[in-house]
Amino acid sequence: MRAGVARQAASAWPMRYHHGVTAPFQPHAFQTDDPRLESIAEKVSSGTRLDGDDALALYRASDILAVGWLANSVRERLHGDKTYFNVNRHINPTNVCIAACRLCAFGRKKDTPGAYTMALEEAWQTAASGYSEAVTEFHIVGGLHPDLPFEYFLDLVRGLKERFPQVHLKAFTMVEVAYLARRAKLSIAETLRELKDAGVDSLPGGGAEIFADRIRHIICDHKIDGDQWLDTARLAHQIGLRSNATMLYGHIEGDEDRVDHLLKLRALQDETGGFQTFIPLAFHPDNTPLQHLPKTTGMLDIRQIAVSRLVLDNFPHIKAYWQMLTPRIAQISLRFGADDLDGTVIEEKIYHDAGATTPQGMRREELVRLIREAGRVPVERDTLYRPVTRTETSVTVAV
Ligand code: SF4
Repeated sequence: MRAGVARQAASAWPMRYHHGVTAPFQPHAFQTDDPRLESIAEKVSSGTRLDGDDALALYRASDILAVGWLANSVRERLHGDKTYFNVNRHINPTNVCIAACRLCAFGRKKDTPGAYTMALEEAWQTAASGYSEAVTEFHIVGGLHPDLPFEYFLDLVRGLKERFPQVHLKAFTMVEVAYLARRAKLSIAETLRELKDAGVDSLPGGGAEIFADRIRHIICDHKIDGDQWLDTARLAHQIGLRSNATMLYGHIEGDEDRVDHLLKLRALQDETGGFQTFIPLAFHPDNTPLQHLPKTTGMLDIRQIAVSRLVLDNFPHIKAYWQMLTPRIAQISLRFGADDLDGTVIEEKIYHDAGATTPQGMRREELVRLIREAGRVPVERDTLYRPVTRTETSVTVAV
């Protein structure tokens, strides 16, 4: 069995970097003393889907290197050495929010210190500041504002499309879409269609948090529940909007809750095929009502990436979001199942309000260096994972 698994991942870790010199790297065979992981390795080798018990065993296995080896073998089977990144800009039009999620350090009540709402001109100006031909995506999310009409968001999107027609607009989480539908007295499907007609190209994956009701009631009681999040994603996919999916981990959830979350996402992906990327989000407790909780550890972060890669066998991509994980952990994750590092970002607010100490953006060259030093091949992509070719004078997206 072990030899079989070793053959499967024969391309694993093909290069190493030693004092700047690359050399062929001989992969080691799969080895573990954990019999539970041996049976999981059989499944991974043969392409057999893992079940909930397997997922739990992966969370609880002490042999993290064996878990990582398996995740890496799947990652390389799917993507070889390619590691994706994009050049994007985050825009958070407002932090005013009617919800009071205990997980959140970003949202503010209206008229309280630190609350802000951008006028449309200001939001367009934010998009323009630091903009260059290199930017291929605007990532737009914000609070659930009690007064802003649906028209504000449609105008925001229309104005961005008018000014930056070549930039992909990845805008509004399932939670925001459901809230806008309520405010506009439209169905979710109608709301999604109007957003799409205005210029939204795809949806980000936020707001999923943890689907388990018991946990969701404590950390984000005012949000749509897990089933509503999944229903909204299903409708988005059905009208042709791709999306991402996330999971917030490292707060009060248990291993079973994480497994439940992953299996629900996998089931919906079987149905629609509309998810592009799964992004495990490490909880940052600072400045939230849950700030007594400890931060996640590197071991948990890396394990979460690996388990995600192994369980979500129908998700094309697993992203190590460097803003939350730190560039160092994100880089190591590229050997534990991740094939995407997210992007240059420019001015991230949400996790920095919650105490993230990472820079608010990263230059393209730095991202490329992180990927190359992990022995991977950087591939700049657009939001839909089409390769972007860049010369000194032009940017081309392969279609
Ligand atoms: S997590 Fe989102 S919905 Fe909850 S308070 Fe923060 S901004 Fe509002």
